[in-house]
Amino acid sequence: MRVYFDCNATAPLRPQARDAMLAALGTSANPSSVHAEGRAARTRVDEARAVIAGFAGASSDAVTFTSGGTEANALAIHGALQAAAEAGQRFTRLIVSAIEHDSVLHTARTAAALHPGLRLSEVAVTSDGDVDLSALRTLLMEGKGRALVSIMAVNNETGVVQPTRAIASLCREHQALYHCDAVQAAGKMPSGLQDLDADILTFSAHKIGGPQGVGALVCRPTTRIAPLLHGGRQENGLRAGTEATAAIAGFAAAVAAIEAPLATDLRDTLEESLLSACPDAVIFGRSAMRVGNTTCIAAPGVPAETLVIALDLEGFAVSAGAACSSGRVTRSHVLDAMGADPDLARCAIRISAGWNTTANDVAALADAWKKIVTRSRARVAA
Ligand code: PLP
Repeated sequence: MRVYFDCNATAPLRPQARDAMLAALGTSANPSSVHAEGRAARTRVDEARAVIAGFAGASSDAVTFTSGGTEANALAIHGALQAAAEAGQRFTRLIVSAIEHDSVLHTARTAAALHPGLRLSEVAVTSDGDVDLSALRTLLMEGKGRALVSIMAVNNETGVVQPTRAIASLCREHQALYHCDAVQAAGKMPSGLQDLDADILTFSAHKIGGPQGVGALVCRPTTRIAPLLHGGRQENGLRAGTEATAAIAGFAAAVAAIEAPLATDLRDTLEESLLSACPDAVIFGRSAMRVGNTTCIAAPGVPAETLVIALDLEGFAVSAGAACSSGRVTRSHVLDAMGADPDLARCAIRISAGWNTTANDVAALADAWKKIVTRSRARVAA
């Protein structure tokens, strides 16, 4: 038996998304072609756009399909900076939080190197993983000129929900533009433009049961973004390249299949069981508001790699809490920013449930955790 608890990395494909993609693949044509087949593909893309727009509380022309969350984040940051520069109204400051996904952090660092006079600041977070609003206020008050702020809605490692409405109101107070990476919020809490109150949102299909390789940027009507990819006039001229019709159809079907924000009951049951098996375990961000699917937990003295591999052998897919890319486990900048003890952070694993997780899955994982932690500690003690 395999049980999958790594939905923050990629959620299992929803059957509705698979069906929509198969239907679209059966009639593939270029949505820009004028013949009947092309028009049918265009209709699929337009229908999908309307679904994403409805989900995001925006109009269809506010939705730009991209190759995923990473590209949408890059389009938001580079695109907003470039559009302002072209209009002679350069941003002077770029403010991100210290716990952003690398696709925001690294893009912000590249953008700061590319735009002379742009000052990059990283807002600190509390030990619970919440963005420090007073630090953000101070940064917004410092310096002259307009700021671009990019702060996520939900952290991918801890599941901590950021105070986006308070961030948005600080941004408004200081005439800053607010981009919010909502990749880990979608499907787990209300995540539209009005809910999060941002000017620009990023979504990614594979985090909600859609396919990999497609995402979207959603902007308020007054937001100016310049394209990063040039060529055809697709996506209102904001993103050149033939639309990935089948992936886009799968994305919309996954969004349409979202029933309700994930409840916290399964997570709470899981955490109680994990803690009762290992009372000195630490759950990161436990006192903060968190989405209902994510637990970032460390059993002191049991390295994350040991736990991840042992759980895998028992049939459970989880990931190391530390940022893990290309199979390499590196130190987590998120746990570092939260001031976690480095030895403890090295033991952190991330358990992330999804749309098909059951109470039996949770009970089985808790049993496996108990067995592995007890065995690993007994070995160390021997
Ligand atoms: N933003 C967050 C918060 C994420 O968790 C991820 C993926 O892990 C991304 C952006 C990147 O999305 P994608 O994999 O679609 O490029």
